Amino acid sequence: MRLILLGAPGSGKGTQGQRLAARLGVPHIASGDLLRAEVRDRTELGRLVAGYLDSGQLVPDELTFKLVVPVVLAAARAGGYVLDGFPRSVAQAVQAEEVAAESGAGPERVIFLAVPEAVLVKRLSERAATSGRSDDTPKVITDRLRVFEAETRPLVEHYRTRGLLREVAADRSTDEVAEAISAVL
Ligand code: AMP
Repeated sequence: MRLILLGAPGSGKGTQGQRLAARLGVPHIASGDLLRAEVRDRTELGRLVAGYLDSGQLVPDELTFKLVVPVVLAAARAGGYVLDGFPRSVAQAVQAEEVAAESGAGPERVIFLAVPEAVLVKRLSERAATSGRSDDTPKVITDRLRVFEAETRPLVEHYRTRGLLREVAADRSTDEVAEAISAVL
């Protein structure tokens, strides 16, 4: 199964992505995790992307694709993926569709985790106490939510038009959301 999890920061993509991937027996591929690992390992790419992560802005497409696409294509060949955090804009989705078309690696389903903004702010602020993430500060949380609204939310319509979208109300417990996701798959 090839699946994309779409949702704002704090919508539960990471938590649900891990659960779902384990259940489906495919890897959970989180673009943010891949990028943070580059920063942590002080690679050349990591040095180039660190500033974007710290400020909550999107990493330029060229750098993101270089890192994420090979991992996704390999997973697709090996049986599927749960993709979390990529694509993050309509431009990324269009470019990814071009890359995936030849090999049939594109998503079979896209799940949108819908959470009201007030709940997102609360969850992210609580997570800030333990996450150790440089982008879990009040200012950057606000900026990341703005970037989501401007760049990523248009993907909901993009995938709805393609008949791939399933929306799940994700302002509930982890177990309830996991059940709702199973129900729409
Ligand atoms: P996340 O862990 O998904 O919240 O992502 C953390 C940060 O990584 C984002 O705020 C961006 O700076 C960067 N990032 C993650 N995925 C992408 C992507 N698909 N395109 C551009 N930047 C990304």
